[in-house]
Amino acid sequence: MKLVSVVVPCYNEEEVLPMFYEEITKVTDQMTRDHPELCFEFLFVNDGSKDKTLEIFRSLADKDERVRYISFSRNFGKESGMYAGLKNAKGDYVVVMDADLQHPPKFLPEMYSYVKDGEYDCATTRRVSRKGESKVRSWFARLFYKIMNKISQTEIVDGAQDFRFMTRQMVDAILDMTEYNRFSKGIFSWVGFNTKYIEYENVERPAGTSSWSFWGLFRYSLEGIMAFSTAPLVMASILGFITCAIAFILIIVAVIKAIFDIGEAPDGYPTIICLIFLFSGLQLFSVGILGQYLSKTYLETKKRPIYIAKETAEMYRARKKEKADSAKSSSKEKKA
Ligand code: UDP
Ligand code: MG
Repeated sequence: MKLVSVVVPCYNEEEVLPMFYEEITKVTDQMTRDHPELCFEFLFVNDGSKDKTLEIFRSLADKDERVRYISFSRNFGKESGMYAGLKNAKGDYVVVMDADLQHPPKFLPEMYSYVKDGEYDCATTRRVSRKGESKVRSWFARLFYKIMNKISQTEIVDGAQDFRFMTRQMVDAILDMTEYNRFSKGIFSWVGFNTKYIEYENVERPAGTSSWSFWGLFRYSLEGIMAFSTAPLVMASILGFITCAIAFILIIVAVIKAIFDIGEAPDGYPTIICLIFLFSGLQLFSVGILGQYLSKTYLETKKRPIYIAKETAEMYRARKKEKADSAKSSSKEKKA
């Protein structure tokens, strides 16, 4: 038998979770009929939701023993959710997907067909359109991929998603990357392995809202650049070098002019002020880049956990059993 773990990070997904569960089980039931060697587990991760997500997990765990879950002590972000899921998945294959049905479960059979023979280690989807997304957002997204692929050795495919069907070998490779600042799109690509891209049209959420604001995405893209490229550091050094060279030439010119008394007396406050502003700006900018990398290093050296679990399905089931047992024994005592 081959176990497939379906990992689903969830943050405030009470509205779509029942729909998601229905859809995914429909697909996985069909898959177990078509491929009798397959069995499934569903590993939901509650990333500190403020709604009834955890309650829904509990009720799913009550009615379906294949359901497992991990509930965080607070919101740690989707990256941490995915890491926790991969770390706790027991499967020979692991699927990572969003709860909001933007990663349609109907692709699972096709994805499995690519990885089952070992030809590919990973099957994933790639959005070919950004339908339903604002023009500004799409433009910035494209710009991000362009910059990222220019300055980083790790290729990040435009439109590639966190919807993945992976082999145990690839999952273990990803888990070996224990960095604190996680940028999964980069990590998936960095570990290598053969990846099959299945192209599809973007689908919109049937319910709930996306938890990504424009600024959230902007910060996330900067994280990505810093996690997978040190080009900004090189850029800062080059910038420094060029401005020093210009300053050096200007100094020589000024000295020569002074010695040979060429030109009129300097009257150029505006020029001086502009230059001071320009160069102090450039300096601060470069120091800022350094600071960003330093802060990332600082956080990495602290070796903080990537997530903290507060409750798991195993804990919940044990507690339930304990309660049932104690209820049974007390009713026996009453009878006696
Ligand atoms: N998510 C999460 N933690 C967060 C934000 C999002 O686990 O802090 C989950 C969310 O529940 C969903 C997936 O990550 O399953 C993708 O989130 P969303 O749909 O908001 O992002 P988008 O599809 O707009 O990129
Ligand atoms: Mg979504």
